[in-house]
Amino acid sequence: MYFNETQIKKKNLLAYSEGWISIGVNILLFGLKFWAGIVSGSVAIIADAWHTLTDSVSSIIVLIGIKVSKKPPDKRHPFGHGRAELISTLFIAFFLGWVAIHFVTGSIEKLRHHEPADFGTVAIIVTIVSVVLKEALAQYAFWVGRKTGFKSMKADGWHHRTDSISSLVILVGILFGRLYWWVDGVLGLAVSIMIFYSGYKIMQEAASSLLG
Ligand SMILES: [Zn+2]
Repeated sequence: MYFNETQIKKKNLLAYSEGWISIGVNILLFGLKFWAGIVSGSVAIIADAWHTLTDSVSSIIVLIGIKVSKKPPDKRHPFGHGRAELISTLFIAFFLGWVAIHFVTGSIEKLRHHEPADFGTVAIIVTIVSVVLKEALAQYAFWVGRKTGFKSMKADGWHHRTDSISSLVILVGILFGRLYWWVDGVLGLAVSIMIFYSGYKIMQEAASSLLG
């Protein structure tokens, strides 16, 4: 398919808007989750907060990708063809791996010491806000993906949706966490595994763009 200059500019502008909105929302959510995690002494919510912060860094990489790449993104290079982007992507993947290991350890410590979290209204409200905002981001990314045909937007949309679902899992956990001491430790492990998996996926994509 051939696109003229104005059409390409319009598409890039839409993709940029998705990136900037993601960055803003994720930084806001990081602040809220970090606060909720501290207030409730929850390793699961704090781990999720760090994941959310790395999400805004990922969005920055998407933006760099759009800017740096001279060639437009295609099927095998959904984020474009930049090298800066590849290096930052690897950095994120390693950081996610480190965060995951850190919180696996933290969660096991909590379980060993039978330390419950004290989930209150703040944790519940912040987690509901996260479910809603992340799904809204997903919808927006899917819409931009349809408008632009950029694969990276669709991938971003799925990421936001996965995050929304994991917040939903945390929400259910919080409700049970008021009954059982071990819920926060187990949730912390689950969140860490999800973080590790998203790091792995990012690494895999980077590798395929290296080889492709
Ligand atoms: Zn995420």
